[in-house]
Amino acid sequence: MPRINEHYLNLKASYLFAEIKRRTQAFREAHPEARIITLGIGDVTLPLSPAVVGALEEAAREQARAETLKGYGPYVGYEWLRADIAAHDFGVRGVSVAVDEIFVSDGGKSDSANIQEIFATDCVVALMDPVYPVYADSNVMAGRSGPADESERYAGFVYLPCTADNGFLPALPAGHVDLIYLCYPNNPTGAVMTREALARWVEYARAHDAIILYDAAYEAYIRDPEIPHSIYEIEGAREVAIESRSFSKNAGFTGLRLAYTVVPKEARGQTRGGKTLGLNELWLRRVSTKSNGPPYVVQKAAAAVYTPDGQKQVRALVDHYMESARIIREGLRAAGFTVYGGSNAPYIWLRTPAGLSSWDFFDRLLAEAHVVGMPGSGFGPSGEGYFRLTAFGSRAETEDAIDRIRTRLRP
Ligand code: PLP
Repeated sequence: MPRINEHYLNLKASYLFAEIKRRTQAFREAHPEARIITLGIGDVTLPLSPAVVGALEEAAREQARAETLKGYGPYVGYEWLRADIAAHDFGVRGVSVAVDEIFVSDGGKSDSANIQEIFATDCVVALMDPVYPVYADSNVMAGRSGPADESERYAGFVYLPCTADNGFLPALPAGHVDLIYLCYPNNPTGAVMTREALARWVEYARAHDAIILYDAAYEAYIRDPEIPHSIYEIEGAREVAIESRSFSKNAGFTGLRLAYTVVPKEARGQTRGGKTLGLNELWLRRVSTKSNGPPYVVQKAAAAVYTPDGQKQVRALVDHYMESARIIREGLRAAGFTVYGGSNAPYIWLRTPAGLSSWDFFDRLLAEAHVVGMPGSGFGPSGEGYFRLTAFGSRAETEDAIDRIRTRLRP
């Protein structure tokens, strides 16, 4: 019998979703008449835009003829899509990203889980707390964490607490770390990072020969013109940052699946013996060994996002969700809650009323308003005392949920 990768045994049980489901189900059985509204998970509800659907249909029809059939594509994605990405997502902001620095994939989740593979297992990892769980779990599986202690923290990770006290912008690590996961606009707190704060992280990474893994999956939600959309807007970032983006939350591709990661040529790592190597080269090796690229039809659909119609339609999707975010944010504020996020991000992060833990508030919200959200403690110990609602629900349900919270539940 082969031995298993025992690092998997260090993973915490995926308690959050299972527990939400269990409590919701128990309530549903006890109150079959209740109409429960879910503003918990971050999945989109609006349909794909017409430009995207048109491109999908056309690309599907191409597959019906031998002359236009597409078989295996480039491992890293078609060049026409990568050229669009370079021009529209970076060039327009004065950021220069070359086509061969862009790696198209089937999702931000897989990119952020896989990128750690090109680094040594003894690299020290810094994680925001609360955090998108994929960064932590992928490093647990790779053996960088050791077992969790009784407070659910791993001794092998350096945690960067993000709370109201620091405006959800973590302090720089006191000592040396090798890999730093940053996500802005942030899931779950809805916070954004100012240019000055991001510049401090780039400076830290340069001083410590660290690499920042910058997750900009929610970049399209930034409204404040002062907030950087890409880490490469910061001088010196190309040597020390890898950035991931996704089509899931701007264009509604959570089901279609498409994302990309930028690995600049200047970003380097070293061997034990001190020889330096380009991370772009290593990631290319990894991608070409393990992937044949996302489907042609999906890449065609992604390219449609960059057409004038596509841009207009996708902006309308984001505007719609941001209006829902405003309704949630202002509604909760009017009801007396302390609310964060929701201005440059589709997540609203609220303080639970005094004396209530994140799970206590989950129960109260479900019992009194029949609304399901995400307990902040599920994203990490520093999320205790907070709660996440998403702006991705249908407008009618969002309005109904906020109305119920205002009329039935007071902090
Ligand atoms: N990064 C963050 C911070 C996310 O919240 C999500 C999805 O919720 C993703 C990445 C994954 O996106 P994708 O659908 O591209 O896998």
